[in-house]
Amino acid sequence: MRLPFTPVDGLCRRCGRAAAGLDGEFLCEDCRCHRPQYDRAASVFRLENDARDLVNAFKFRDRVHLRSDFADFLEGLARVRFRLSEVACIVPMPSTTPHRWLRGYNQCAILASALSKRVGIPCRALLKRVGNPARQGGLSEEDRRVNVVGTFAALRKASAFAGKTVLVVDDIMTTGSTLSEAAKTLKSAGVGKVWAITVARSLRELL
Ligand SMILES: [Zn+2]
Repeated sequence: MRLPFTPVDGLCRRCGRAAAGLDGEFLCEDCRCHRPQYDRAASVFRLENDARDLVNAFKFRDRVHLRSDFADFLEGLARVRFRLSEVACIVPMPSTTPHRWLRGYNQCAILASALSKRVGIPCRALLKRVGNPARQGGLSEEDRRVNVVGTFAALRKASAFAGKTVLVVDDIMTTGSTLSEAAKTLKSAGVGKVWAITVARSLRELL
């Protein structure tokens, strides 16, 4: 099995997108134009080949036992890309209710809880979904940004993290618009910085 791990150097310091031939960190054109509300994002894999099959098996086919491998990968990446001593809590991305009913579990909560145990940082659900956005699949980047506006609400306990840094866990980052909206909601509840980690990303690379 060949897993397309994302590089750890030559990355946009905000969205984590890679650019060939660059060292260190930079700010990519998309982040300069659209200013995502999260402060930093990192993903373990690109959503390709075997990684796509594994993530889909976990997400849609009850392969919950993959959580331990995914949590190992998330932990390794989190230790490289984030200063974990700054992180006050780990926040699972809430799933849309119909999805949770269909699957019977929230895969992001499972991952967030496993990562939380490994790094010794508490896991707190600080967000809930409100309303039902149209599915993001098939939408343009601009339509995705509009589609997710107002789809989250912060729970009251988010105020305990005012001025602090939290790490949101999601399974897949596509354009980052959902993560950005989640970060905006957390920040409007007072959270200081929002970092995000996902198992996979299908974000267009700058290679
Ligand atoms: Zn960027």
